[in-house]
Amino acid sequence: MNVQYKTVLPDAQPDSSAGDTKPARPVRRSIFRGMAGKCPACGQGKLFDGFLATRHACEACGEAFHHHRADDAPPYFTITIVGHIIIPALLAVEVLWRPALWIHMTIWIPLTILLAFAFMRPVKGALVALQWALYMHGFDPDAGEDLPEPDPAASIK
Ligand SMILES: [Zn+2]
Repeated sequence: MNVQYKTVLPDAQPDSSAGDTKPARPVRRSIFRGMAGKCPACGQGKLFDGFLATRHACEACGEAFHHHRADDAPPYFTITIVGHIIIPALLAVEVLWRPALWIHMTIWIPLTILLAFAFMRPVKGALVALQWALYMHGFDPDAGEDLPEPDPAASIK
């Protein structure tokens, strides 16, 4: 079995910034618009169609949203944010007052669910808007179709 190694020197890599004439998109403004559930491009149209499903495109400016790749990032960041709120608060209450377990359960379980639902949509909106602002995935008009890599195990058989 022959294994070929290929060394790629840094200067041999294609310069992605060469000929890049796309205008810079304001990242912070886009994120705030996305958090508010608004189109990151115009700030007028709605980003979401339902609670978490994104619209196919903005009804105000026509910016397409269907090619975002937020995937697992919104729940990941939601869990991280909610965990960093709930766990210190839970530990502080336990250290200060040592309430009974049923009191902990009645406080922290509903609060965790409430905060998760409160953060999920703004976090997803912010991530989709960030992808738009950075021309990631299908938001880059120069990029090809952003399809998943073919399964390498399929060629072995
Ligand atoms: Zn728009």
